[in-house]
Amino acid sequence: MKSLIAFFQKITGKKKAYCCNDCLCNLYMVLDGEASPEQQEKFMKHIDTCSHCFECYKVDRSVKELIKYKIQNMEVPSSLIESIKNKIGPGKC
Ligand SMILES: [Zn+2]
Repeated sequence: MKSLIAFFQKITGKKKAYCCNDCLCNLYMVLDGEASPEQQEKFMKHIDTCSHCFECYKVDRSVKELIKYKIQNMEVPSSLIESIKNKIGPGKC
């Protein structure tokens, strides 16, 4: 029975910590403004301490911004393109 509990905890993630999986699951909701204040707070706290998720957040935020420019048929600032190019590369997200 004990091993079953351990297995369950393993597949569901450790209950106490807000893990990277949770964080990345909430990423789009936060970016879309659809996350609850509680989710947003947890998310922000996590990316404050987790550089991996923070990087993912920055990339996705930039890409979202890029899409916004494209949709509105506006010229995309080259600084934005450069920052995305710099962030997206082998081994990054
Ligand atoms: Zn993380």
